[in-house]
Amino acid sequence: MSKNILILPGDGIGPEIVAEARKVLEATDKKMGLGLSFDEDLMGGCSIDAHGVPLADGALEKARAADAILLGAVGGPQWDTLDRSIRPEQGLLQIRSKLELFANLRPALLYPQLVDASSLKPEVVSGLDILIVRELTGGIYFGKPRGIRTLDNGEREGYNTYVYKESEIERIGRIAFEMARKRQGRVCSVDKANVLEVTMLWREVMDRLAPEYPDVELSHMYVDNAAMQLVRAPKQFDVLVTGNMFGDILSDAAAMLTGSIGMLPSASLNKDGRGMYEPCHGSAPDIAGQGLANPLATILSAAMMLRYSLGMAEAADAIEAAVGDVLDQGLRTADIVTDGSKKVSTKEMGDAVVNSLSR
Ligand code: NAD
Repeated sequence: MSKNILILPGDGIGPEIVAEARKVLEATDKKMGLGLSFDEDLMGGCSIDAHGVPLADGALEKARAADAILLGAVGGPQWDTLDRSIRPEQGLLQIRSKLELFANLRPALLYPQLVDASSLKPEVVSGLDILIVRELTGGIYFGKPRGIRTLDNGEREGYNTYVYKESEIERIGRIAFEMARKRQGRVCSVDKANVLEVTMLWREVMDRLAPEYPDVELSHMYVDNAAMQLVRAPKQFDVLVTGNMFGDILSDAAAMLTGSIGMLPSASLNKDGRGMYEPCHGSAPDIAGQGLANPLATILSAAMMLRYSLGMAEAADAIEAAVGDVLDQGLRTADIVTDGSKKVSTKEMGDAVVNSLSR
């Protein structure tokens, strides 16, 4: 049965990196007979320019109907002055929330070939394999009330609301425990329970779940310490689970451990395992259109899509192996180039992955 993939290239480097990932998926399909079909639509700034909104109804309907979604990235300075309600990022928040993509999986895995590209010492990062599980549809990014108001004295005040229901904490907690079972069996839950009531509840719910997973070891860490530990001794972590905002920040820090944010894929899943797959980075307007973007995070996101939403683990393995192979060949985009490696463009990197797959 054919599997329909909706591609949302987005803005900035989005179209460049997604084109390479699509090429890799098509090559994998050709080689392994996966029965993939593709459709494309707009989301983000490009959709604002075409339809006046970051996510049009038609695109949302296609997203609902697709077996999986592959996204580039959205946003850029040309849309930053628009009202917040119609900025590109709203398209992203809407699709995550309408499709209930509450579980964001962000593996931070250091390829041994890139140990020198990391900003940390090789002994600190070599062998690094962390999975960050970030809650994606709740917390302060969605909490209400929110806004900017004018006080009686004429001064303006910005405010947001950090809320989590027990059920929201429980469902993301369960994902973390389940994932840990397939890995090294350790979950570290990150909160700020010494200050924020919402995360006191978070900690309580995690503790309540723990006895159901006796084979998994649960620990807790305050977010400020977690930020420090991620750059001091990151290999102590296996699965790290946290709320939306803390996860957003910590996963970017974890990205640098792996050499470049251009290497980090992600999956955002709903309760049935359907999902949207995208690189962890943004639309990188500073390098857009120059062939400098690293497409590997998007290519690895496509591999995650095959594994988690389409049940095609063998094809995912093949793509991941091909990425390892091009790194073995010494091919590097500008963000991960080191002495002795060969600098290639976005397209050359995609072509190299396709060639490796086709061999
Ligand atoms: P960014 O991730 O786009 O870029 C941060 C830095 O990393 C830049 O120097 C960029 O050149 C570099 N970088 C990012 N991806 C790269 C890649 N594949 N290869 C090589 N280098 C890469 O973050 P930013 O600059 O803070 O944000 C730019 C825009 O992206 C903003 O409009 C922001 O709102 C948006 N954004 C979108 C998403 C998303 O679509 N999921 C996520 C984060 C930011």
